[in-house]
Amino acid sequence: MLLVAEPTLGEEEKAALAAVIDSGWITMGDRVAAFEKAFAAAHGVADAVAVGSCTAGLHLVLESLGIGPGDEVLVPAMTFVATANAVLHAGATPVFVDIEALDRPLMAPDDAKDKLTARTRAVILVDYAGTLPDPDLWRAFAAAHGLRLIEDAAHAAGAEGAGAIGDAGVFSFYGNKNMTTAEGGMVFARDPAVLERIRRLRGHGMTSSTRQRLSGHAQGYDVTMLGYNHRMDELRAAVGLVQLAKLPAWNAKRRALTEAYRQRLRRACPDVLVPFADNQPSSNHILPVLLPEGADRETVMDALRADGIQTSVHYAPVHLFTLYRERCPDVALPLTEEFARRELTLPLHPKMEDAQVDTVVQALADALSRADVRGVAELEGSE
Ligand SMILES: *Cc1c(COP(=O)(O)O)cnc(C)c1O
Repeated sequence: MLLVAEPTLGEEEKAALAAVIDSGWITMGDRVAAFEKAFAAAHGVADAVAVGSCTAGLHLVLESLGIGPGDEVLVPAMTFVATANAVLHAGATPVFVDIEALDRPLMAPDDAKDKLTARTRAVILVDYAGTLPDPDLWRAFAAAHGLRLIEDAAHAAGAEGAGAIGDAGVFSFYGNKNMTTAEGGMVFARDPAVLERIRRLRGHGMTSSTRQRLSGHAQGYDVTMLGYNHRMDELRAAVGLVQLAKLPAWNAKRRALTEAYRQRLRRACPDVLVPFADNQPSSNHILPVLLPEGADRETVMDALRADGIQTSVHYAPVHLFTLYRERCPDVALPLTEEFARRELTLPLHPKMEDAQVDTVVQALADALSRADVRGVAELEGSE
């Protein structure tokens, strides 16, 4: 089966894990600190805080920026549910914003403006598929309306400028992301004081770490805020350091595969829409396409599966989940909903061969040409 996403893990990761085990120091030590420094440097920022997940990182960012009960946070619905969950975890209210266009599924500035109220305190942008929203536009928007600007950069590891659009940015190292630590995340924040608060919130609100105390750099500790345990361990950080070194080559491969997909889809499936412009800077995290209006996605997915090709959907829109229908009723996002109805994610990962792009595109073209895939209306009367 050709999978939609697949982690690349091997001997170097095994050796890195073995070295941590042999060292006897398994959490919050030199490797976590080294991973933070290296990940920050790779993205051109001064410092970073490693956390247990992107979701935990988003929660810590919201809390450290003082966003909580009574506050509204603009979020896209075309994202993984964690973006909005983090807002609820912080006690604030997510307000869903539509996408710009079917071929640009990023938060729409016009709709964001329409959704502002006296309670709006922040915006969380999502770098969908690894494409960054326009930084200048959103910085101006946030400044004009007195908002905090937060970036869910879960898709964008390795993309230029990722995580640094606004006040804070958070990455994910979950198993299907461009680089992985199995579970894990990384936080950037422009204000070093905010990043320090996040560092403290990550570890129970304590003023010093076990490492600092045992190495004689600190005696005892105080607790100055209600913190969490959102730490990263040495095993994950060691894997992260290995993966980070390989990320540029993997992202280059993703980019080349994406370009190949674009060319071949244009030729073989002219009525399939590939979002985003050619050559747009991106980490090329996933390969989303929009099927023609009326095509039956389930049938297409079944046909591709029968050909040994896994596909998926990014995403079921968050505002339509039961939890969010209850918490945020009567939300209508026409473009997001159409995008979600027609979207299909094709396999894209660095282990893929060029020739597999041809196989996928041919299988998709074949599936779409079959009568049972076309709209129900077309089928009526034909059987
Ligand atoms: C994967 C993902 C997350 C969650 O990341 P975790 O590290 O699993 O918490 C959040 N937002 C987006 C857009 C994601 O794709």
